[in-house]
Amino acid sequence: MEQGGGRESGFVGRGLSKVYITGETQVHALRGVDLEIRPGEVVVLLGPSGSGKSTLLNIVGGLDRPTGGDLWFGETELTALDEAAMTRFRRRNIGFIFQFYNLVPSLTARENVALVTDIASDPMDVREALDLVGLGDRIDHFPAQLSGGEQQRVAVARAIAKRPRVLLCDEPTGALDSQTGTRVLEALAKANAELGTTLILITHNAGISVMADRVFNFLDGQIASIESHPHRAPPSEISW
Ligand code: ADP
Repeated sequence: MEQGGGRESGFVGRGLSKVYITGETQVHALRGVDLEIRPGEVVVLLGPSGSGKSTLLNIVGGLDRPTGGDLWFGETELTALDEAAMTRFRRRNIGFIFQFYNLVPSLTARENVALVTDIASDPMDVREALDLVGLGDRIDHFPAQLSGGEQQRVAVARAIAKRPRVLLCDEPTGALDSQTGTRVLEALAKANAELGTTLILITHNAGISVMADRVFNFLDGQIASIESHPHRAPPSEISW
């Protein structure tokens, strides 16, 4: 089975719920979320801590499964896949970027990106990926020789190098100041513009919303409201 359908794959979720059970405590992290995310869209997930954003991101990325509801990516029903098929879906289609860059300290920028390109089916050239994030001249530097923002851009290069359809970003600028954070967001916006990569981005910084097509406002395990922007602003216009 082809996981991910055609180039035009977007997400459709219906009635997604997630209940975490720890001992006698039940936490309802998601309470019946319906969503549609179009291919190539930039979506920002905003909302208080604990409102369910990471839980949703992990489910969309195939790292976790909902307790109820169903989720589709193009023609593929993700909620019906077995573990092996889910892993193939994730490998082929999803790139992850987290708050802390998770680079291997003993490997150069080139080698960190090559970890992904060595096992991908149609990867970019490592240099092309690092050029795209503006780090073509730092290709042989180790993480310790790079600033936090530069390390995060290596992480972006690593995530995009396998040409995923979707990039999932959990607080990608959470550890960065405004100037370096802007450069990271510019790298993500470029991947979206040049490769058509769908971007789904969690942030606490409401200012980042201006670069999104739509903002999903989370509250208490639900999408309480959706804001649409007819025009996206470039990251340079974000006020932090
Ligand atoms: P957000 O990303 O908006 O901060 P999360 O999705 O991380 O929210 O969490 C939603 C709720 O689910 C929170 O109450 C959180 O404590 C709970 N939660 C998240 N992951 C787990 C887990 N593995 N076990 C138990 N509870 C969890």
